Amino acid sequence: MREKIVAGNWKMNKNFPEGIDLIKEIIVKGASVNNVKIIVSPPYLFQHEAFNLLKNTTIGLAAQNCSEQENGAYTGEVSAQMLKSAGTQYVILGHSERRTYYQETDQLISLKIQQALKYDLKPIVCCGELLEEREKNEHFNVIKKQLHGMFQGLTTTQICKLIVAYEPVWAIGTGKTASPEQAQEIHQYIREIISNLYGNEVSGNIPILYGGSCKPSNAKELFEKPDIDGGLIGGASLVADDFIAIAKSF
Ligand code: PEP
Repeated sequence: MREKIVAGNWKMNKNFPEGIDLIKEIIVKGASVNNVKIIVSPPYLFQHEAFNLLKNTTIGLAAQNCSEQENGAYTGEVSAQMLKSAGTQYVILGHSERRTYYQETDQLISLKIQQALKYDLKPIVCCGELLEEREKNEHFNVIKKQLHGMFQGLTTTQICKLIVAYEPVWAIGTGKTASPEQAQEIHQYIREIISNLYGNEVSGNIPILYGGSCKPSNAKELFEKPDIDGGLIGGASLVADDFIAIAKSF
């Protein structure tokens, strides 16, 4: 049985007291959810305070990025080791906003995955096609290329620690969700790719999350699909009631 996961991607939202209040509200409202792993991802600055608040709960703590470097003269960067020492457990890597605005490539993301795994952070690895790629029917090839690039050099033991998120870029923050059938088709394809690389058993155990305008009104029909194991939630993760309602959609 694969773990069911609902992870919030806060992006660059909430100041410090607002972020702390949101975590407290999620702790209270999420207390009745026991069959789904809830994960929050406040900005770097709040990670340690979030860890203190969450440590006696089952809610997981994710960062939204980490450096591909170990340590040293990389001004402004935050390493996987620093995150681990602050209490972070998961890290979102390869989000389309990082690919678009910070020119992250699959090769760079693969180095970040290695750093994360080295320090025992569980990577939530994102893939997804642009609208024009889907319109040209290139989405399968795009996903395949992204996954092959990001998984480069990963052993079977390492791949088993990953969570994958399929996030069609045209659905992120647009209000335009992939239909459950469109999402299921790609999730199944992702599982096939992993199976071809690492075998059926490995592929069958990796959680694959859907992300892209997931909200309380559409989560249930998405989560009912056999290869959709939960969601990576942007906008709706900033409102505790919506985020928890999504987690209760299973
Ligand atoms: C995201 O950015 O990971 C995301 C899924 O955003 P939204 O839910 O706002 O579309």
